[in-house]
Amino acid sequence: MTFTVSHHIGGRIVTGGRGTSPIHNPSTGERIGDVELADAELVSQAVATAKEAFQSWSQSSLGRRTAILFAFRELMAANAEQLGAIVTREHGKVLSDAIGEVGRGLDVIDYVCGIPQLLKGEFTMQASSGLDVYSFREPLGVCAGVTPFNFPVMCPMWMAPVAIACGNTFVLKPSEADPSASLFIADLWQRAGLPDGVFNVVQGDRHAVAALETHPDVKSLSFVGSTRVGRELHAIGTAHGKRVQALCGAKNHGLVLADADLEFAATNAAASAFGAAGERCMALPVIAVVEQVAEEFIARVVDKAKAIKVADGMTADADMGAIISRSARDRIEATVTEAEAAGARVLLDGRGFHPDGHEDGFWTGPTILTDVTTDMRAYREEIFGPVLVIMRIKDLDEGIELIRDCPFGNGAAIFTGSGQAARRFTREIPVGMIGVNVPIPVPVAYHSFGGWQDSFVGESHIYGPEGVKFFTEAKAVTQRWTEPAAATFHFAGASQASN
Ligand code: NAD
Repeated sequence: MTFTVSHHIGGRIVTGGRGTSPIHNPSTGERIGDVELADAELVSQAVATAKEAFQSWSQSSLGRRTAILFAFRELMAANAEQLGAIVTREHGKVLSDAIGEVGRGLDVIDYVCGIPQLLKGEFTMQASSGLDVYSFREPLGVCAGVTPFNFPVMCPMWMAPVAIACGNTFVLKPSEADPSASLFIADLWQRAGLPDGVFNVVQGDRHAVAALETHPDVKSLSFVGSTRVGRELHAIGTAHGKRVQALCGAKNHGLVLADADLEFAATNAAASAFGAAGERCMALPVIAVVEQVAEEFIARVVDKAKAIKVADGMTADADMGAIISRSARDRIEATVTEAEAAGARVLLDGRGFHPDGHEDGFWTGPTILTDVTTDMRAYREEIFGPVLVIMRIKDLDEGIELIRDCPFGNGAAIFTGSGQAARRFTREIPVGMIGVNVPIPVPVAYHSFGGWQDSFVGESHIYGPEGVKFFTEAKAVTQRWTEPAAATFHFAGASQASN
């Protein structure tokens, strides 16, 4: 029995659009359902509904918003396993990882449960005689989010709860590859008491995104996905007067120095390269290891990678599941084949692998390449699959140089026992999120998340303080409540303080 995933607008399921796109279970390759694709008219309906809901939601008290956020948080936590299973079915990642992504989403909801504190403005008493100044932040209006396939729960949670807590209404356009989680989340918002129309979902592809990018009533666009699409969305969105934050692709490097704990570094290198089948923007697909310890480190990583259990995501002890689509699997394996033909050595070959009984699923196993040169596509481009490239470097300087030459700048990690080396590393690389003996340095929700260079377009990073800033606009009020003095033709302010 297949199912159809539709839109959620104004608190109810809405059907229609410009056709459907198939949803697969990557583990079996089976088509399990279809997702409807919104057209411009349907997007307009969602935006109009969100605009209408903004009238009252933007006026709701902080106490009411907080109560709803707490209730939503509790419902997300109580349903984490069910939500995780939905993600595993359509994405392929293992259940524990899918539940983990719900947990990272919960962190952001926790953070915005403190929205009264986050929106507290500033007040200056007696800036001039009898004159006070205060400033605060107001919501924008209808905010839209466009999210990728790899975190169908976490990425929407990076944006929607923050926008809503700030008094905005939201239209989410999830990935068409794994759309079901979005409707489950919409239902939880409703059960938490969020008024209809504050959180809406339009399913769809680039046509739905184009309608959001150009719609005059959409005030902001939050995007997470590939660099090509993020750049285009930023260009079109800003040309249409929106504020845009676009979190884009990545090619993160890990550096292993001779004084690192090699066992710890090898375990974490394998986990971060192959976890979620490498389909994480904060994975470490490149490890640069100093020559001195390279042989030993590589041997350990290969051992760890061989021990990874690749199986259907619902299998209790699975470490790694399937790839999102057949085309992604083919692209990943073609990149490995191309690198091999260009002289790379394949130390562990996952090409052609599938678990028994899953011949039609979208599978490839952990793969490790060495002797890769920086002009190969396997090094230059984001593979977004379970392929680890191990480079040999002379020293820290060469490692830093390698990262500085990489056009992406999402995350990077160093494994070392030296505080001095770590300090140089953190200061000298043009990367947004850095780990010191931490392989996947995703910042906690009360800091903000975002990359540099080709990994980000816009000004404000996502969630945390930058997220609150992104979803609000500043207002400053200069007020006088004393007896009116003689009219002044000067600017009112401290610098004009005369009386
Ligand atoms: P994608 O760019 O193909 O799609 C992202 C979203 O954009 C989807 O909702 C999709 O429907 C839409 N889209 C696709 N093509 C479009 C087009 N031409 N015009 C307008 N919209 C379009 O990305 P993906 O394959 O879903 O996800 C993987 C990518 O996301 C990787 O590059 C990964 O690094 C990146 N990512 C980045 C972060 C981050 O925080 N920097 C986090 C997760 C994923």
